[in-house]
Amino acid sequence: MARTLSSETVGKVGESVTLQGWVHVRRDMGKIIFVHLRDRTGQVQVVFVPGECPDYELAKTLRDEFVVEITGVVADRGKKNVNEKMVTGTVEIQARTLKILNEAQTPPFPLDDTKDVSEERRLTYRYLDLRSERMQKNIRLRHNVIAYMRSWLDKQGFIEVETPYVTKGTPEGAREFIIPSRLHAGEFYVLPQSPQQFKQLLMVGGIERYFQIARCFRDEDQRGDRQAEFTQLDLEMSFVTQEDVLQLNEQLFTELVASVVPEMKLSTTPFSRLTYAEALKQYGTDKPDLRKDKNDPNELAFAWVVDFPMFEKGSDGSIQAVHHPFCMIHPDDTDKLESDPLSVRAASYDLVLNGYEISSGSIRIHQAKLQEKIFQILGLSPELIEAKFGHMLRAFSYGAPPHGGMAPGIDRFIMILANEPNIREVIAFPKTGDGRDLMMGAPSELPPNALRDAHIQLRVKKE
Ligand code: ASP
Repeated sequence: MARTLSSETVGKVGESVTLQGWVHVRRDMGKIIFVHLRDRTGQVQVVFVPGECPDYELAKTLRDEFVVEITGVVADRGKKNVNEKMVTGTVEIQARTLKILNEAQTPPFPLDDTKDVSEERRLTYRYLDLRSERMQKNIRLRHNVIAYMRSWLDKQGFIEVETPYVTKGTPEGAREFIIPSRLHAGEFYVLPQSPQQFKQLLMVGGIERYFQIARCFRDEDQRGDRQAEFTQLDLEMSFVTQEDVLQLNEQLFTELVASVVPEMKLSTTPFSRLTYAEALKQYGTDKPDLRKDKNDPNELAFAWVVDFPMFEKGSDGSIQAVHHPFCMIHPDDTDKLESDPLSVRAASYDLVLNGYEISSGSIRIHQAKLQEKIFQILGLSPELIEAKFGHMLRAFSYGAPPHGGMAPGIDRFIMILANEPNIREVIAFPKTGDGRDLMMGAPSELPPNALRDAHIQLRVKKE
């Protein structure tokens, strides 16, 4: 049996086909039973007529979301009966046989229209929510964007390298998820906030052009639209200037939009460019929304914001890195590093889209001496520098090439392309605002022996 997809039926008038999928709706009109059969390509109407279909009685038992296999003949509906709302609206399937592959309970909410369904409910039954047209569209758009990025970068000589998820911390300004080591009592791995150090070490390793669709983990209080894990297109290049990185990314995003979402239009070509200082002065924010018409769902206004400060004062008065400590110092500001670090700019840049920061990046420091100096300015003792970053300083001392990169956030970019209000709508299995996976029931307690193995003694008592 060769399966025909619903979208393929239009070209098969007069042919006998076998379809498999879900009963989207069943309607009985007098004696005739109409079923909209749904599969990954859409829907097609199937008609059961008594006398023509030996399985007619079985068709009466069909309910929404039953999984079925139907054979039948593709028939032209005739001009009068065309359903303009369906892609397959010019045809219908005259059913001959019906097999029920699986039954289904009534779904806990209508899959067609989830507008008024609470997010908790949708996330608890995410596997059902994913069947909705909205989620199917978003998840497929996500795939198309990622597939485009992969093949575009491949053609430009980039290679995809996986870096560890079970590793040591890298400072990106957030709290880290920690993993106790079973084999090494009292020691811990952490989940990386980004592959920042590894991608720089890949440059030392001669990879020259790296990318990864990388998961990043940040154990932050779940403010608004954040996720404990999110995805970046992480990339890094050797022997480049800031201009090279900006040009390459501008070309990638421009061509991606034209190819993957041709209905959308860029309103800033080339992308607008402004310095951090100009952005603050002109727009009062470092992520200005430069759209001409904020009500146009198809307008995309990209902007580069460059020359961020390297350091800022933390709430406790200490000096902290604005982005991360690996950013190169702006070439015009090197002589102020000792005397006035807070006035020093970094060779760093953000990519902003419709008022959202979708990426940050920078040219990196590749000299051990300068990197050590930055750690000192950040107040790290020689012992701490060695313990946390000794590997970076050693690597830089073995002929590290000049390098730089950036890491566009995939979730936010897709959210904007899909015109969705938050990133959870473009992630297959997101967590709630307070960091729970309602479907899996995570986080959850562990049995005492699992805790013992991980050398964990709990101080909290659950009622
Ligand atoms: N690792 C940085 C981040 O996660 C991005 C970069 O500098 O490439 O924000």
